[in-house]
Amino acid sequence: MVCIYCNHPTTVSNSRKSKKDKSVWRRRSCNTCVAQFTTKEIPEYSTTLVVRCRDGAIQSFSRDKLFLSIHRSLEHLENAIDTSSAITDTVLRQLLDKSNKGLLPYSHIIDTVHLVLSRYDTLATNIYKAHHPIK
Ligand SMILES: [Zn+2]
Repeated sequence: MVCIYCNHPTTVSNSRKSKKDKSVWRRRSCNTCVAQFTTKEIPEYSTTLVVRCRDGAIQSFSRDKLFLSIHRSLEHLENAIDTSSAITDTVLRQLLDKSNKGLLPYSHIIDTVHLVLSRYDTLATNIYKAHHPIK
């Protein structure tokens, strides 16, 4: 990767794998301007996972859409953004375990969010259920 400031090559000075979200954190140093910055490599789920919608249509998976649907149910909490992000990661991990070669039926996503939210917050579960009923 090139330097974010001067576009010259960089060297990785530290690297850690996250067990939580399958990401890799790297500390980089520029060989030219000596700037340091951090990068995070994460899987590109939109080109890896597809969702089969209720009408049978296939759509690319979007972590952002999942996050927003969860966040809408948790807006009553003070720490809604951090909590929504953590719950989104938990749901995503469970979806990856259940996915059949990258195919996710929409109902699996809804069921998994219901389950994860129900362990966390009753009001959020009810809000989510109102927006995403189990058919
Ligand atoms: Zn530089």
